[in-house]
Amino acid sequence: MRTPFIVGNWKMNLTLSEVEDFLSTVKGRLPDPHDVECAIAASSIYMDALTKFCKKEKNLKTAAQNCFYKDSGAYTGEVSPMALADMGVKYVMLGHSERRKYFDESNKMINKKVKAVIKNNMTPIICCDETMAKRKTADEMNWVVNPVIEALKGISPEDAKHVVIGYEPSWAIGTGRTASAAEIQEACFLIRETLIDLYGQDIANEIRIVYGGSVNSRNVAEIMKQDDVDGVLPGKSSLKAEEFIKIVNYQN
Ligand code: 13P
Repeated sequence: MRTPFIVGNWKMNLTLSEVEDFLSTVKGRLPDPHDVECAIAASSIYMDALTKFCKKEKNLKTAAQNCFYKDSGAYTGEVSPMALADMGVKYVMLGHSERRKYFDESNKMINKKVKAVIKNNMTPIICCDETMAKRKTADEMNWVVNPVIEALKGISPEDAKHVVIGYEPSWAIGTGRTASAAEIQEACFLIRETLIDLYGQDIANEIRIVYGGSVNSRNVAEIMKQDDVDGVLPGKSSLKAEEFIKIVNYQN
């Protein structure tokens, strides 16, 4: 059984006092973690505030939005996966389309980061993108699944079953234009089939696949109904505590 997983991606937003306001608003209003697992992916500078809060509020987990693939060394400006793990961070998003677009992250680099995150006993949320133009071509399947195959190179079945895959078409991110439930299911099904090819049915059945791209409290329930969708990654709509509370309580 895959527990539904909702991760708010704050991106490069909010000040510390806004983070504190958010956390005090959501306190006690998140679902039971057995029903819906909730996480916030915040900028690294807020990891301390978030991990301290999450130690008390067991219904919320901390996610980083990125990290480097080395644990330490002369890598000015980078964030160490070992340090994130030491702080109590549980998840690390990797390969978000904004990282690929603005910071030239390649599949090869993302694969190294996936390995570093697993080595440090955290769980990678591996994001794969797809552009509208590419979706219209005959090659559409490859654009969805290739980043998944590349990111998982060298990852054992035992480790693979804990990873989370994020399907996030860039044309739906920040545009207010959500993919239709059918389009989301189609892509997530292709991802699941790819996972079956790579690891077999049993492992593929354990891996959670989440969708991101203009998710909000009005469309979340419909998206969550899809067979191969195990969660959502709201961006903009996760910045407002009341909206985030509505999204994570979509079952009520
Ligand atoms: P929006 O919800 O703002 O479209 O962002 C989605 C996203 O990028 C999640 O990682």
